[in-house]
Amino acid sequence: MAAILIDGRAVAAKWKGDLALQAAELSADGTEPHLAVVLVGDNAASQVYVRNKENACRKAGIRSTVIRLAEDCDQEQLENTVRSLNDDAGVHGILVQLPLPRHLDEAAVLRLIDPNKDVDGFHAMNSGRLMNGQKGFIPCTPLGVMKLLEAYDIPVSGKHAVVIGRSNIVGKPMAMLLLAADATVTVCHSKTENLKELVRQADIVVAAVGRAAFVTADMIKPGAVVIDVGINRVDGAIVGDVDPAAAEAAGYLTPVPGGVGQMTIAMLLHNTLEAVREYGR
Ligand code: NAD
Repeated sequence: MAAILIDGRAVAAKWKGDLALQAAELSADGTEPHLAVVLVGDNAASQVYVRNKENACRKAGIRSTVIRLAEDCDQEQLENTVRSLNDDAGVHGILVQLPLPRHLDEAAVLRLIDPNKDVDGFHAMNSGRLMNGQKGFIPCTPLGVMKLLEAYDIPVSGKHAVVIGRSNIVGKPMAMLLLAADATVTVCHSKTENLKELVRQADIVVAAVGRAAFVTADMIKPGAVVIDVGINRVDGAIVGDVDPAAAEAAGYLTPVPGGVGQMTIAMLLHNTLEAVREYGR
């Protein structure tokens, strides 16, 4: 039987509609939510991502400002930009678009962002809060995955979830969120032995590897929930990390495009409004 496709577009549209109402309320109360995005250089994919974020903000009634710095800008210039956004009471969320050009120290920049404006949730303070079960900003993609599971009433508690990938942006926070939702979590990565056998035990599989068709149908336990976070460009098309043939084995599957990616921006808007509510007034 073919898997039920999880419609990330529809779930994200519902979120964005609700968030637009919340943004309007905040503005009516005297605080227009404001996201500042720092974009360094001219990486083509980053330009597209930033444009999508600007469009989503505009539609939701959230002010966005993009600060563009030249490809060859130095660390001090970038850090001074972040400092001035930290100090600007009219800015509620700060996002530094990654990846940065190689000569820049990404970790140092992320450390500098005010944790209370860190709407990407990449600051160690927010990773620590997530780890400790405290309230904080949660990285948008894994948060979006949890909201998709909720939207489809997919039970997580007590289930075995296998996360493939251990990045700070997706894999690790994804594992923490699943653990917080009472799943039994296995994290696989590039050095994992017996990956296939581990994935085959999973009730929930989250693939965040960055390799097209990495997860194949024979790795999926019949009926498992398969969440495809991957975004890979193959012959000009965007594909995920999961071979579409896995739909024959899975119970649920997120398509690419139209799955998780749609939720990431919705969660960025959500985090920006949270920043206003928690710290911005
Ligand atoms: P990353 O390169 O930082 O991490 C990839 C992870 O995959 C690593 O932890 C690595 O250990 C693991 N890995 C690599 N080869 C492996 C192998 N052979 N077996 C098992 N594990 C292996 O990437 P990332 O930032 O975590 O992103 C992962 C994917 O998700 C990418 O395709 C990225 O484009 C996509 N992504 C999508 C969204 C979205 O909004 N949908 C957001 C962020 C990232």
